[in-house]
Formats: sequence, C-alpha cells, structure tokens
Amino acid sequence: VDLDPHEASMIERRQRLLGPAYRLFYERPIEVVRGEGVWLYDRDGKAYLDAYNNVASLGHCHPRVVDAICRQVATLATNTRYLHESVLIYAEQLLATMPSELGHLMFTCTGSDANDLAVRIARSFTGGEGVIVTETAYHGITKIVAEFSPSLGPSVDLGPHVRTVPAPDSYRSPTGDLATEFTVAVEAAIRDLRRHGIKPALFICDSIFSSDGVFGEQPGFLKGAVDAIRAAGGLYIADEVQPGFGRTGDAMWGFQRHGVIPDIVTLGKPMGNGFPVAGIVVRPEVIDEFGRKARYFNTFGGNAVAAEAARAVLSAIQDEDLMRNARMSGAYLKDGIKALAQRHDAIGDVRGAGLFVGVEIVSDRSTRTPDARTCTRIVNGLREAGVLISACGPSANVLKIRPPLVFTTENADFLIERLDRVMMST
Ligand code: PMP
Repeated sequence: VDLDPHEASMIERRQRLLGPAYRLFYERPIEVVRGEGVWLYDRDGKAYLDAYNNVASLGHCHPRVVDAICRQVATLATNTRYLHESVLIYAEQLLATMPSELGHLMFTCTGSDANDLAVRIARSFTGGEGVIVTETAYHGITKIVAEFSPSLGPSVDLGPHVRTVPAPDSYRSPTGDLATEFTVAVEAAIRDLRRHGIKPALFICDSIFSSDGVFGEQPGFLKGAVDAIRAAGGLYIADEVQPGFGRTGDAMWGFQRHGVIPDIVTLGKPMGNGFPVAGIVVRPEVIDEFGRKARYFNTFGGNAVAAEAARAVLSAIQDEDLMRNARMSGAYLKDGIKALAQRHDAIGDVRGAGLFVGVEIVSDRSTRTPDARTCTRIVNGLREAGVLISACGPSANVLKIRPPLVFTTENADFLIERLDRVMMST
C-alpha cells in the first residue's frame, strides 16, 4: 500500500520509540484523533464507523462518563487504603447485577491482572495447579496468564500444567451436540492432567469465545463442562472481559446465558468505557482463606476516579437500556449479513450473540475451508470504505464485528451495504 509521508513517518517513529513488540491494525494504519458515539475520525476529518471497539461500549467519549471522570479527577484521585464512598457504591451496584452467591468485588487495572489474581485465588483454594482453556483462548499478558493464552502463538509456551480443549465450534461440530462434545473434551483434559500427576485447579473460558472464532449459540452448552471441573475439585472462572456488561444482549453476563454460576468472574475492557478499570467478583468462601493469608493492594485498581467511571458506565447501560439495544441491533445485523450470504459464497456462517457477530469466510462452502486471505482483504477493504472491524479464529478467517452497544439499525445498514460492496470487489 502507498502510505503518505506523514503516515510513513509515524510508523517509523513508533518502531524506533516503542520497539518491535507492538502491532498495528490494517495494511494502511489509521491515525485516529477523535471519537464520538460509534464514529472515529482521522486527521483529515474522515469518519469511520467503529464496529470493533468493545471498550468504548457506550460509544466513544460518552458524556456521562466524561463528566464523572472529570469531576472526580478534579476532586480527589486516591486509592483503596482510604475510606471512600464511590468504591462502595459501585460495588453495591455491580454485585446487584450478579447472582447472590458472588459476594465480593476486588479491583484491578486490566483484564490480565484480574485473571492473574483469579488464578492465584483458585490455586490457593483448590491446592491444584492445572488449568483448562480452549485452543485459541486469550486471557492476558502476565506470565501466569500468558501461559494459558494459546492465541499468543508459539512465542509463548503453554505451561506444563495447561491443557487445551477444542472450542465449541457450532459450524464444524461433528455431532451437532455441542454440550456433550464440550463436556467430553473437558473431562478428557481433566483425566490427562491427573495422569501427569497434576491436580486440576480451574477451567476458564470467555463464554462468547471471542478469539476462538465467536461461538455464542446454543446457550447452555457450558453446563456440563462446569459440572465436570467442579467434580474434579476445580473452579470455574468466567472471563467476562468480552461478553460482559450486556454485550450478548440476553443477559448482563455471558455466563448467565448458560445457566451456570461461576466461582470467580473476571471483568475488564468495557467496565470504564476507556478508563482503565477491571476486577474480579468472587464467592466469599473461595476468597476467605486467601484473603486472610495474603495482602491485596493494587495502587490504581479501584481508585476513586476508576470507581466513578465504572459507576457512570453501569448506570448508563441500565438507563439507556443498552442490553436491549444489543439484542435488537445485533439480531438485525446478523439477519442482514445472512441475507448477504445469498449473494456471496465466501460467507460460510454468520453467528454470535447480541452485538458480537462472527462471519466465517470460506473458500468452499461444502468443505468449509477457511479463507484467511479473503478475510484479510475484506477487513482492509472495509477500512478503506469507512468501517472498522477485525478478524479472529484459529485460521484468522472469521470477521469479528463487535461495535459499541449504542450501535443502531441504521449503523447496521451502513455496515451491511459497505460489506456487500467490498465483497463484490474482493
Ligand atoms: N480476557 C479476554 C477474554 C480478553 O479479550 C482480554 C483482552 N483482549 C483480556 C482478558 C486481557 O485484558 P487486558 O488487555 O485489559 O489485560
């Protein structure tokens, strides 16, 4: 691609200043300078429909969150070792959205450190080490968590105590009975851990399987796997960093769609609509001993500004009925893309829940052969056409569409029209 001199210079400076570990989106990266609602704007004022950002879940720069952050940062920004009402009010508000078995909220700054803390608690409670995850899962970047985030690729070795199970792939399921297939896989992983003398500590999953390729359908399929890990003395950790805060449309939390109650829930990304705030919610009996032995303090986790941002987010989700919008707009978007599939053979499957939609791009529908090249061309073509999405899945051939929850049916029409146009020319 032809980059203009300004873009080329920014890329060169990034490489020089930030080093080699960072990756940019797109063949022609975008410099975004402003966001509002579902729109992002580049330096020239060109608008892009943001159909990817689940952090700005209420829309970019939501006035209520901006106000809450500004007010609090101008008043006091301090930590959880002082008494402060905000953190307590938020904890009451958040815990009220969870099953009553989950009694405590602890604050972190990122989803990775939420998962790190959850694993430490689970290991302390169970006395086990073993971790079961799906084959292309992502749970974060700390050493402990990267060891069970296979989507990081071969550069990070999975821990010897980690076992992977195939994602519940509704498109390629051999029997069509995902619940049984998934349970059998988790049971086999438990047996394999034991055979190697490793006691299972936990099964962790993101119930929308966002990096595995987006599998949200047939709600309920997780129950057997959760029963299996508990029967083996391990815990079930629900990573709600992706499906949480209303995204899947049917429920505030992804695990609720499966009729299961986790031992620990981990939270992040949309919790502060862009302000860094994350955390875990845990059953009191699970944290009891750990809490008495260990000391937990996280300098920025749960600071007054983070708590106010998170309060504003949760209130807005409820007051603006965003879960309902995720359900309605998500269904509309999915139907629209399914209709496109009649014209474009490359669309093998359209799936997801609420405003989390996966579109499988294949070279041959009868063999369901993944087509990553076409998928990449579509993602880059949409970027040129003013729509931002990405790709996921073990073969990187699934369009990942995950817009802010304020996404309207008009926004969906725009996306569908552009997708149609881009697919016609790829
Ligand atoms: N869990 C899941 C399911 C995620 O998608 C992510 C981030 N992509 C994380 C955990 C880690 O969150 P963070 O980047 O805030 O550390």
